[in-house]
Amino acid sequence: MASIAENILQVRGRIASACRAFDRLPATVHLLAVSKTCPGVSVREAFDAGQRDFGENYVQEALAKITELADLRADSGDPIRWHLIGPLQSNKAREVAANFDWVHSVDRMKLAQRLSDLRPPALAPLQVCLQVNISGEDSKSGVAPEATLALARAVAALPNLNLRGLMAIPEPAADLAAQRAPHRALRKLLEALNAEGLELDTLSIGMSADLEAAVAEGATWVRVGRAIFGSRPAKSAPTS
Ligand SMILES: *Cc1c(COP(=O)(O)O)cnc(C)c1O
Repeated sequence: MASIAENILQVRGRIASACRAFDRLPATVHLLAVSKTCPGVSVREAFDAGQRDFGENYVQEALAKITELADLRADSGDPIRWHLIGPLQSNKAREVAANFDWVHSVDRMKLAQRLSDLRPPALAPLQVCLQVNISGEDSKSGVAPEATLALARAVAALPNLNLRGLMAIPEPAADLAAQRAPHRALRKLLEALNAEGLELDTLSIGMSADLEAAVAEGATWVRVGRAIFGSRPAKSAPTS
C-alpha cells in the first residue's frame, strides 16, 4: 500500500495535470487534506511530507487532534492550519472560533454572528466560506443559491470574520461533464457576487473523485480525503 507521502505526491500530480489541461496556474489551487476519522499520527505523517492545511468534519474529533498536535501549530515558521468543513451547530461556535483558522461550512447568519462574536481578539480574523446548496437537495446543508447574496453581504460586514468565498458538495456524478456542471454553477454564483461589489477569491470545490472537474471550473481549494489517507470506515461517524 502506498504511504501517505506517496499519496500526497500523487494527488499533487493530479492537480498539476488538471492545471495544465485547463490552463490554471498551479499556485492558485490549494490542497486541503481531509483528515476526518484519521488518527493524529496520520496527520503528522502528512505534515512531515509538507502538507499544512487539514480539513475536519466533526468538532470534538478535531479538537482532540488539534490538542494532540499542538506542537505543529507552535512551529511559528510554517505552522499547521485547521479547516472545519462539516456542519456546525451554534453551540459549538465558541470552540470553533477559538481553534480553527478556516470554516468552509457557514450557512446562516446566526452562526456567522456567533463565530465573529466569539473569535478571540488575539487571533487573526477567521477565514470563512459560505456553503451553498448548489444541487438543491433537501437533505444537504447550505444556503440556497438565491439567498447567497444577502447572506454574503451580512457576513462580509462582521468584524472578526474574513469572508473569502463559496463552498459546495455537489451530488456525485460519473463523468467529467456532469461533474463540471454544479461546479460551474458555483463559479457563476461567485462571479455574480463579485459583480455586486463583494471581493471573494475562494472556491472550495472538488474531492477525491472529482478534483479535475473542480480545477476546470476554478477551484482554489480541493478537499481530498480518501486519495490521501485511504478509505474511511464505512459509517458510524462520531457526532459533532
Ligand atoms: C469527507 C469530505 C471530503 C473528502 O472526501 P473524499 O472523497 O474522501 O476525498 C471533502 N469535503 C467534505 C465536506 C467532506 O465531508
